[in-house]
Amino acid sequence: MSTGLDEALTRAAAVIAAAPEVALACHVTPDGDALGSMLALHLALRAAGRRSVASFPEPFVVADHYRGLIGLDTLTDPAAFPSAPAVMVTFDAGSIDRLGGLAASADAATELIVIDHHVSNTRFGTINVIDPDAAASGVVVRRLLDALDLPLDHGVATDLYAALICDTGRFQYESTTPEVFGLAGELAGFDLEIPTLSRSLFEEHRFSYLKLMGEAVERMVLERERGFVWTVVSQDMLARHGCTMDEAEGLIDIVRRTREAGVACVLKEDDDGTVKVSLRSVGEVDVCAIATANGGGGHRFAAGFTSRDDIDGTLARIRAAL
Ligand code: AMP
Ligand code: MN
Ligand code: MN
Repeated sequence: MSTGLDEALTRAAAVIAAAPEVALACHVTPDGDALGSMLALHLALRAAGRRSVASFPEPFVVADHYRGLIGLDTLTDPAAFPSAPAVMVTFDAGSIDRLGGLAASADAATELIVIDHHVSNTRFGTINVIDPDAAASGVVVRRLLDALDLPLDHGVATDLYAALICDTGRFQYESTTPEVFGLAGELAGFDLEIPTLSRSLFEEHRFSYLKLMGEAVERMVLERERGFVWTVVSQDMLARHGCTMDEAEGLIDIVRRTREAGVACVLKEDDDGTVKVSLRSVGEVDVCAIATANGGGGHRFAAGFTSRDDIDGTLARIRAAL
């Protein structure tokens, strides 16, 4: 860890330790790392008798595959989130706009501690604990718990484990370092329900979603000359199969298996008219650069952005960037 990062971690711990109450928030449409890293600190603080509220911006719905995380029942509706918290902590959000409707609270917070691992992070906090080398925001939270002298328990360990396996693709991505296995080993010591958690997170879908996935795979387009593969999930497809967009979170992991393509993309047509773009690279291309140039962000191998253009216009931008 660099000295700057070490120092930020120590300052963050001092501010949290001195606060009568902390307000925690993670990014919009939270994934396993966003929820897991936030809930881990939330549960650890509460177990120590500290006051903590945790939330994320509207739409205030947790995708069903995250039901194995612990502490979801202790989340606060964003409408009840403090409007000007003395100490606010954000998780896995690379920029303030990723906090959606809670960005105003972050703006008004006296101390804003940003816990993250996105290389594209805009450092929008008063204290920025950002480690682009960390496999997950949960890894940074584990270090913070140490600095706070807060012990792990079964719930905290479950949430950190979920953060870790979601962001490392179950110990497969480049980010899977010896530190990751060290942490996984420590967490596994807390009697985790590993098979149940793995099944709900990755290995189980509703039959109707599998059919939708079949259609999305059927519609995949391979642009050989660019090494680019893409598909679309439209509102019409969701309606016909009776699915919600959050079920399609893992579709990109199928699309990116295409051997002939270095870059994979899923374009999700949202009900507000925007297109949510997921990008993955398995080669030389830095998809974070493409996402950042389009107002989004992420990591070198996994990134995303929200587009106001239609599908064709959005694809044209990506092709131009490639
Ligand atoms: P996803 O494709 O949604 O799984 O996202 C992959 C990565 O890109 C994650 O690290 C996200 O934090 C990041 N990302 C996705 N969408 C956006 C966005 N609209 N703005 C900034 N970062 C994003
Ligand atoms: Mn995330
Ligand atoms: Mn993350």
